[in-house]
Amino acid sequence: MSANESEKTSHAGLRTVTWLIAIALALGALAGHWLHGYQDAPDSWIGERFEAIRGGLWFVGNDIFIRLLKMLIMPLIISSVIVGVVSVGDFRRLGKIGLATLAYYFGTMLIAVTIGLTLVTVINPGQYISEEAVVRAEADYAADTKVQEKIEAGPSGFGAALLQIFKSIIPENPLGAAAEGRVLPIIFFSIFFGVVLTTIGPRGEPVAGFFDAVFRVMMKMVIVVIWMAPVGVFCLLAWTIAAKGLGVFLTAIAVYMSTVIAGLSIHALIVLPLLLWVFGRANPFVFLHRMRSALMTAFGTDSSSATLPVTCEAATLEGGVSKKSAGFVLPLGATINMDGTALFEAVAVVFIAQAYGFDLGLAELVIIALTATLTAIGAAGIPSASLVLMPTVIMAVNQSLGYTGEGAGETSGILIAGIGLIIGVDRLLDMCRTTVNVWGDAVGAKIMTRIAPDEAAPK
Ligand code: ASP
Repeated sequence: MSANESEKTSHAGLRTVTWLIAIALALGALAGHWLHGYQDAPDSWIGERFEAIRGGLWFVGNDIFIRLLKMLIMPLIISSVIVGVVSVGDFRRLGKIGLATLAYYFGTMLIAVTIGLTLVTVINPGQYISEEAVVRAEADYAADTKVQEKIEAGPSGFGAALLQIFKSIIPENPLGAAAEGRVLPIIFFSIFFGVVLTTIGPRGEPVAGFFDAVFRVMMKMVIVVIWMAPVGVFCLLAWTIAAKGLGVFLTAIAVYMSTVIAGLSIHALIVLPLLLWVFGRANPFVFLHRMRSALMTAFGTDSSSATLPVTCEAATLEGGVSKKSAGFVLPLGATINMDGTALFEAVAVVFIAQAYGFDLGLAELVIIALTATLTAIGAAGIPSASLVLMPTVIMAVNQSLGYTGEGAGETSGILIAGIGLIIGVDRLLDMCRTTVNVWGDAVGAKIMTRIAPDEAAPK
């Protein structure tokens, strides 16, 4: 089959599978809700096997589907970054794209945080939370040792979080970093490698050709793996919804959830499209439609990193994003650029503060904006990464409020145990913020395509 024919077949395949993913998401939600009905009926046949059924769903969704995606990440990042850097060629242009990309990442994250802070201040979802609910949440948190362990392993403050980001950029051993799945150091090494590769003249051509071939093979592997996506997202969604049921949207916590979702919607459907239209000169809604396979995979998997292979595939194959831009903006964006996460962190921390009865002033809101952006940059593109970094934001706010000790509410500032309030619904919100994270990366890559078009970029 010629390269052209093969591309056409991939196109058609991607379209079909996208429909299947959409249907699977809807069916997964319904199946999860139906299963949830049996959670409190342990005497029924299904109720008796409730945990086993959820375990089965998790096995197929996580241990098969997400693993298949994760398996592709490292070789895809290494080859796509090197191919991207080599095809940009000269240093100065690379610097220009790099600066524009970083400005885009920071700018959009700050806009997202501002939207979140405005909404949560105006809506004040914390006022609907009773004192008993706060006490119950603290107990929930105390019982959740898994989350606590992860949180304790995280950075202990603003400075530590900043240091952790810088420390994680340069790999001591690139192979070790790749083996451990650490993305940022691998991107750093690949950029460096690609830049130097362009300086050694014709001798570098076989190596550049090798990585180009690896990149093409990886993209083909994505096309195969993506056929597993409908089954994978069905299982993951059913697993998630089975825990709480769709009725969670009718409880007091729903006001908080709606605030997050409203903020994410404003950012994803108004701000980012506007930026794409102004700076990328592209029709945002056509592009949104073309990126739907990646967005739905993000929604189903809760992980921008695991979605990265699909994002690359959809962006280059359907979205008209140049290889140069995709190689650079998408892998970096999957770890650094998290608009949804930044917005979420800001809303969640203010919500917890409101539930504890704190009135936050402008100084605290500015601190939240900065720390939420920083933690979003530091967060890995994996499920619930935000929760682990939230204490950094809470502690920074407490310091600003003048609390440094530990203890109960009034005397110690906002308790980290307040995270217990939101743990239960976090997976649902994670699906939404991950989708926005991936959409932000895609929009960035489309905008940067204008600065770095391929020689014959598809329209
Ligand atoms: N799950 C998110 C992502 O992968 C990160 C987070 O906000 O928890 O993009």
